[in-house]
Amino acid sequence: MISTMSATRRAELAENLDLVQARIARACEAAGRDLAEVRLIVVTKTFPASDVHLLAELGVRDVGENRDQEARAKWSECTDLPLRWHLIGQLQRNKVNSVLHWADVVQTVDRPELAEALNTAAERVGRRLGVMVQVALDVPLQSARGGCAPADVPALARYLLSLGHLDLTGVMGVAPLLGEPAAAFTRLAQVAGIVRELTPGADQISAGMSGDLEEAIDRGATQVRIGGAVLGNRPILP
Ligand SMILES: *Cc1c(COP(=O)(O)O)cnc(C)c1O
Repeated sequence: MISTMSATRRAELAENLDLVQARIARACEAAGRDLAEVRLIVVTKTFPASDVHLLAELGVRDVGENRDQEARAKWSECTDLPLRWHLIGQLQRNKVNSVLHWADVVQTVDRPELAEALNTAAERVGRRLGVMVQVALDVPLQSARGGCAPADVPALARYLLSLGHLDLTGVMGVAPLLGEPAAAFTRLAQVAGIVRELTPGADQISAGMSGDLEEAIDRGATQVRIGGAVLGNRPILP
């Protein structure tokens, strides 16, 4: 019974992955970009560890989670899998030690206090941590959604580069709920260019979700974070 259910789920995930990969390939072609430049991160929040196992079997190598508690529990059931785990949700400073257990990359660094806390936690456990600067793309700026104001990104990037246990890999952004995603991704690409001038290795742009991956790839995204289009509808959370 269980194996029949898991075979059905595996087939569903395989089909969805194919569709998403075809969308990514078409978007790369339309933008004149090399497919190898764009990495798929499958956002597994609210879905069980059994799905993560199936995704790994199907070749997925990057997963994204937005809550420490949920992610850490799921990760502990998946430690045998060759996956990179990305934190893509807001992070409170009191969670950084926990995040160091499971996250390979924290994509949502948006303030110096958080950067400092992550560096201290990484140093304590003797490892390095990948980080990205989350850039606020709402106009006008709405701090509730998180993200560093574009004007403050160079200073935060410089600060991250001064910390010994963090590897700055690029910038991340979430298109505003309202308005044109393309305009937001254009602003993100401009900020990404400034960060890349500070440190050429920080060349990653994490942008684009199920509804706007084409616009993101057109504006230079090197990582797309796809949840619903691979895993199906998420239960509505309170
Ligand atoms: C949930 C989430 C995603 C995935 O969104 P979908 O619309 O399900 O593809 C991407 N990025 C962030 C930051 C998220 O929280």
